[in-house]
Amino acid sequence: MSTHAPAALAQELELALTAVRAASEVCSTVQHDLVGAGSMSKGDKSPVTVADFASQAVVAHHLAQAFPDDPLVGEEDASALRSGDEASLADQVIDHAQQAIGPEITGPQVLDLIDRGNHQPDLGNLGRYWTLDPIDGTKGFLRGQQYAVALALLIDGQVVLGVLGCPNLDGPDGEPGLLLSAGIGSGCYARPLFDDAAEPQPCRVTSGGQPGGDAASARFVESVESGHSDQGASAAAVQALGTTAEPVRIDSQCKYAVVAQGKAEVYLRLPTRKGYREKIWDHAAGMICVQEAGGRVTDAYGRPLKFTRGAQLEDNAGIVATSGPLHDAVVDAVRPHLPDPSEV
Ligand code: AMP
Ligand code: MG
Repeated sequence: MSTHAPAALAQELELALTAVRAASEVCSTVQHDLVGAGSMSKGDKSPVTVADFASQAVVAHHLAQAFPDDPLVGEEDASALRSGDEASLADQVIDHAQQAIGPEITGPQVLDLIDRGNHQPDLGNLGRYWTLDPIDGTKGFLRGQQYAVALALLIDGQVVLGVLGCPNLDGPDGEPGLLLSAGIGSGCYARPLFDDAAEPQPCRVTSGGQPGGDAASARFVESVESGHSDQGASAAAVQALGTTAEPVRIDSQCKYAVVAQGKAEVYLRLPTRKGYREKIWDHAAGMICVQEAGGRVTDAYGRPLKFTRGAQLEDNAGIVATSGPLHDAVVDAVRPHLPDPSEV
């Protein structure tokens, strides 16, 4: 299979595609079982928790096999599962992980795999590490809607590879399940998530002249959750740009995937509260997909995202991701609706 990554990263891309596919299958199974059974009650977070931990175990397993020395900065750790109170949760996680990895993997090994995600980057010597959001968009997962498995590789504070598994977005074959990947300098590619024989299709953002190529006709996406992005501020910015269509609300890094595929032109994520810092696993894979598809990604103030500060984007607030030519106009339109940078 062709890989479309720099030769030096071809093995990493193969590994990331395999790992994200396997983890997405676990998540998709759990989501379908629970939605189908009608048992995804609003207050019950345990289904997403089971899939979250199992997804991290599966990705960590593939990483450990292929690159045993590579550290992982993952969203989850197994401490809750190790406490005796969560024995039934731990059993379910182990069961799902065994179905995905193989029956030979033991319970303690599954917990150790999850804890491989505990790496704390050494700020003086970043080196090479992976970052994983095993289920990005947990609220969407629980609603039976969009979520993503997001895996990226960073080298010396630069995102060099990203893979997004989006089980509920359509793939290039028109069937549910999109697997998006990008290697630095080698473009962005879309594959069907659940068909590993299909050829990857190049992915490009909208360009000028196409529908959506100017600010007034641009299609916007933002979070479903008003706690994750200031929807009032985005509505005001959208209006200032002369756009009539309301932003479409989608959970997770599926928003980056939609922009990378030219199905929307702008993703706005505007700060909702002072002191919140974006997490690297929420943006690394999505950012490189949009950039390699020809788009631009900055924070809400137009600053480049800085991945050199550990697990958080300490020097940034919010996100603006666009198809490119519109970027500066969008940042300018957003600015009057943002707090002073010293206030976020
Ligand atoms: P989304 O599905 O795009 O709304 O984003 C989901 C992600 O939002 C989760 O993975 C959280 O890490 C992140 N998140 C949690 N609280 C906030 C917040 N106050 N502002 C921005 N993002 C947040
Ligand atoms: Mg997340």
